[in-house]
Amino acid sequence: MSQSVSTIGVGYVGVSTSVGFAAKGCKVLAYDKDLAKTNLLIEGLSPFYERELEEHLQRVRRDGFFEIASNVEEAVKNTDITFVTVGTPSRADGTINLDYIKASTTDIGKALVKKEGYHLVVVKSTVIPGTTVNMVKPLLEKTSNRQCGEDFGLCMNPEFLREGSGLYDTIHPDRIVIGEYDRKSGDTLESLYNHFHREEKPPIVRTNLSTAELIKYANNAFLATKISYINSIANICEKIPETDIKTVAKAIGLDKRINPKFLRAGLGYGGSCFPKDLKALIAFSKQNNYHPSLLKAVQKVNQQQIDHVIDRIETQLGELTNKKICLLGLSFKPDTDDMREARSIPIINQLLAKGARIAVYDPIAISNAKVIFGNEVEYASSVPECLENSECCILVTEWSEFKELEPEDFIKKMKTPLLVDGRRIFDPEIFGQKLKYVAIGLGPPKIG
Ligand code: NAD
Repeated sequence: MSQSVSTIGVGYVGVSTSVGFAAKGCKVLAYDKDLAKTNLLIEGLSPFYERELEEHLQRVRRDGFFEIASNVEEAVKNTDITFVTVGTPSRADGTINLDYIKASTTDIGKALVKKEGYHLVVVKSTVIPGTTVNMVKPLLEKTSNRQCGEDFGLCMNPEFLREGSGLYDTIHPDRIVIGEYDRKSGDTLESLYNHFHREEKPPIVRTNLSTAELIKYANNAFLATKISYINSIANICEKIPETDIKTVAKAIGLDKRINPKFLRAGLGYGGSCFPKDLKALIAFSKQNNYHPSLLKAVQKVNQQQIDHVIDRIETQLGELTNKKICLLGLSFKPDTDDMREARSIPIINQLLAKGARIAVYDPIAISNAKVIFGNEVEYASSVPECLENSECCILVTEWSEFKELEPEDFIKKMKTPLLVDGRRIFDPEIFGQKLKYVAIGLGPPKIG
């Protein structure tokens, strides 16, 4: 049974996979073409923020379980299983960009030429159904001059981790999906996971390559659908006096057929996966002559949620020209510094287009935000500094430090205390009495 693995691409998935396997006693060799990232890892520093990740990273580095390879050949030659964890971003038309998959597959194929014995290649990146069998397999065979199923094995093993708890999710997954080219490939990967999860084995679903690829998209599309669904009901709540989406969501979430997760109304979904994966699935469906109306509606509701919040601010403030509006939270969710497709981006762009002045604060994501907004916004280094003299505050990301804020914190600093609770973290009973409190999914008070 193999216990040495390599990872190609050390972004969020590659680092979590590498540190996770290394923490369980596998020898891991990681490679990334981005030297800045690998140099950080060599120093025991993570290329992105995740609580407690660096402690684990430093431990596995110290114990000699996690090394950095200087090229793909070194990574492949010295291990038995190679995970492809490179990015698969969207193209402008929404289709998936497979350039990084092609480049890394080509490098792995060339390295296989020099490898003795059986080697398993595992695609962990999210790829559209058919990619592994129709693109990765022929490319590996061509560049290695070897045959899949005989000289090397091939699996597709989608990743379901949540950013912010990537390492935890790698060690405690709900399930493992193994798409296999043939039985030997699947057996090899399953035995690695059996070793990994010794005592606490999650359910393992074994299937073919294309089904595994589709499972990942179906999973993310379903979660995005739940979010757009609850936001639609939240918008209906706002029309009905004395209703609150939080109570509605709590009650429907108690239905075991529905489950309470992903039923939190707010500003919608963002991040590196949901928007990109939904776009890719829609584009893929259309290419195959299927028009996925439900998925398009999910996307539209998510886009409209931002317009809806801006409308509500304009209803309160009138013209926004030269009005100072501040945002608490910038990252796409708490506990990460990832700004990819964060909801703060369309909010800020729309407010700037309307002439507002913007101040922002985030506990971790400011340096990534500076790359996006440059000097178009004012960066505050604390909540009070951000609130100072503003006419509206939008709570965008529910970092735990914001949950401690009291109405007085806003009243003391703001010019006019208007708080838009985009993530429903404050108590309407308390905040509604002391300042102008606008919340997603909160119906108006009873009239008379
Ligand atoms: P990322 O952009 O953070 O990292 C990808 C890394 O791959 C980068 O460091 C890049 O330099 C490297 N890379 C690109 N081409 C390379 C090559 N030819 N050789 C070596 N390295 C190369 O991406 P990520 O967020 O870790 O996502 C990776 C994949 O996993 C994507 O398909 C994504 O959809 C999927 N995924 C991501 C998450 C998540 O939460 N981020 C969760 C599940 C699945």
